Amino acid sequence: MNCQLCGNDIGKVIVIIAKTRPGGYLASMACLKCAKKSGLYCEKHERPHTGFGRQMEMSACLLCAVDLVDENRHRAGIISGMLQDAAPEDFAILRQEQTWMINNEEDENVAILLHLSAMALCHKTTLDELIRQLVVAGSLDKIKNQPL
Ligand SMILES: [Zn+2]
Ligand SMILES: [Zn+2]
Repeated sequence: MNCQLCGNDIGKVIVIIAKTRPGGYLASMACLKCAKKSGLYCEKHERPHTGFGRQMEMSACLLCAVDLVDENRHRAGIISGMLQDAAPEDFAILRQEQTWMINNEEDENVAILLHLSAMALCHKTTLDELIRQLVVAGSLDKIKNQPL
């Protein structure tokens, strides 16, 4: 098995990274060295990012997103309210997407916070900056479609 980035033998550790290959697959098999160099691998959690985008290479470490949620859990309700005010349509869609993990309002706020945290990491920005952009743009799609 050869690394799809450097072409060398991968060795024992194969890392699937969220890098687009010709044909549009958002997954490449890489050696650990290339994975770390790609920016699509979290050294803190020692795991590859999860890919989100299709055309664009949007990826984030889900455990980093969970860390962000923990840091901001105390204001999950406020952030959720800001999304609801800034982009009510997105808020409704997100709520619907997340129903499988929602039992109460607190869960709902945390689920929305997780989504926004992953998005902030995808854009290599902070949660507050993402929310600021969201308030200006009025829609998650307008932010999503911006190149990294
Ligand atoms: Zn390699
Ligand atoms: Zn991480």
